[in-house]
Amino acid sequence: MSRYKDEQCRICRREGQKLFLKGTRCYSDKCSISRRNYAPGQHGQKRAKLSEYGTQLREKQKTKSYYGVGERQFRKYFEMASNKKGVTGELLLQILESRLDNVVYRLGFGTSRAQARQFVNHGQFEVNGKKVDVPSYLVKSGDIITVRENKKENATLKVNAEETASRPVPAWLEKDSEKLSGKVVRLAAREDIDLPIEEHLIVELYSK
Ligand code: SF4
Repeated sequence: MSRYKDEQCRICRREGQKLFLKGTRCYSDKCSISRRNYAPGQHGQKRAKLSEYGTQLREKQKTKSYYGVGERQFRKYFEMASNKKGVTGELLLQILESRLDNVVYRLGFGTSRAQARQFVNHGQFEVNGKKVDVPSYLVKSGDIITVRENKKENATLKVNAEETASRPVPAWLEKDSEKLSGKVVRLAAREDIDLPIEEHLIVELYSK
């Protein structure tokens, strides 16, 4: 059982970085990266030097893990980013940040993206007054995301609001803690995204 409970931490340990996949535990001294910062498995303590391809692949895997996105969807986002005007890597991150589950997490309604995704799946949120239960829904500038009226008494949401109170809301979003809602002021720019991702490596990987 414990093996499965630690599955997400194993992903962090494999990447050698905190990916913040488990909510409040990630910010505590129980974080596995703080205690055992080496890859899982028998040979985990000897990190092999990666090839160029290996480095690019790891960066993609790490980014997918951050946002909890599968290969097909990630590839689709890459295609979308490639077809837009601008820097493909930055646009890719902007699309990932625009996912509704990520926005719910960034607003502090979920302690992790996985939890935020579950809330969205369970129909706890609406966008511009309409229920949206699709975590991959992409928000637009001006969208208002609100906890649905009949879900506002949800105890977990209330606890989360307290636990995430000290977590800053990024500049591209605006939070109204009283109304349990948030606004997309503009889409995320690269400097708004605090994740240590080298997106050019992903672009290089897919451009091979
Ligand atoms: Fe586990 Fe979170 Fe630490 Fe990652 S950051 S190792 S998911 S506790």
